[in-house]
Amino acid sequence: MNQPAFADSLHPVTWPEGYQAAASFTFDVDAESCTIAHDPSSARRMSLMSHQSYGPKIAVPRLLQILDRQDIKGTFFIPGFTAESYPDVVRRIADGGHEIAHHGYLHEPMQGIDAATEASYLDRGLEALANVAGVRPVGYRAPWWELNWQSPALLADRGFLYDSSLLDGDAPYRMAVAEGDSRDIVEIPVDWALDDWEQYAFYPGVTGSGVIESPAKALEMWTLEAQAHRSQGSCFVLTNHPFISGRPSRAVALEQLIERVKDLDGMWVTTLAAIAQHTKDTVQEIHTHARIDVPLFPGAGATFRPAQVKIPTLR
Ligand SMILES: [Zn+2]
Repeated sequence: MNQPAFADSLHPVTWPEGYQAAASFTFDVDAESCTIAHDPSSARRMSLMSHQSYGPKIAVPRLLQILDRQDIKGTFFIPGFTAESYPDVVRRIADGGHEIAHHGYLHEPMQGIDAATEASYLDRGLEALANVAGVRPVGYRAPWWELNWQSPALLADRGFLYDSSLLDGDAPYRMAVAEGDSRDIVEIPVDWALDDWEQYAFYPGVTGSGVIESPAKALEMWTLEAQAHRSQGSCFVLTNHPFISGRPSRAVALEQLIERVKDLDGMWVTTLAAIAQHTKDTVQEIHTHARIDVPLFPGAGATFRPAQVKIPTLR
C-alpha cells in the first residue's frame, strides 16, 4: 500500500525510495550525569549512583546485543562526563557502527543560562567525545530536551547538522537558527509520550511520575504511536535511557517493539543522522521559529506581539 508522504508547509518530507515513514531508536546515556547536574550532593549517594551506573555497566551491552540481533543502528546521545567515566562502553558503541551524538557535558540544566555558558558546555562535551571515541558528532539533544532560543545558532557555529529536542512536529524539518540568520539546522522533534522516563523512572526523591508501568503497557502505547506515524508518513523517535529501559523485561519489550516497527510496511528504521541528512538534502523550505513575547497587561508599558504562527494544511 502506498501512503502519501506527510507533506505540509512545516514538514515537507518525502522519504527515500521505497519508504513511506521513518523510525529511530535513540538512547540517552545519562548515567550519573543527570542526577549530579540536578543535585551535586547526589554524588555522595552510593545507591543512587549505582542505579545510574546500571546504564553503562549492564544495560548498554545488553541493548547493543539487541540492536545487533535486530540488525539496526541506534543513535546514542552521550554526555561528555559519561564518555570520560565509561570510555570502553562508549568506544564499544562506536565500534558497533552506531551514531554517537552530543548530550551536554554534565547534562547541565539549560534554563536561563547565557550563550557563553551554553557554548562552554557544548565545547567541553565535544572535546570529551573526541578524546574518548575520536568522534565529531553531527547531532545534539539538549539535556532534558531544554533548548534555548540561542541554542540553534551555537550548534550551527560548531557545524552540527541537527538537533532533536523540540516538540512541535511529527517529522523532521529545517529550521533557521534565529530570526534574520540565513543559516539553518535540521530539527527532529521528540515527544514525552515516546520517552521511557515517563513509563518506568522511579527513584525516591529523584524521579518524575513515580509510577513504574508494565513493559506490556509501554509496548502497546509505543506500538500504537509507531503505527500512526507509519500511516501518516511521519517520523517515530523513541527515547530510551539505558539505566531505565535496559532492565530485563523492559529490554525484552523493546526488542519486541523493534520487531514490530521493522515489520511495518515501508518503515525506514535508521539513525537520526541519516534522517537529518536526508531532510537537509531533500527539503527546500526553512521554518523560522518566532520568539514568544510575554503579554503584559495594560499599564505595564509594553505591547504584546503574538507570534502569528502560520498553521499548515494537512494533506
Ligand atoms: Zn538526558
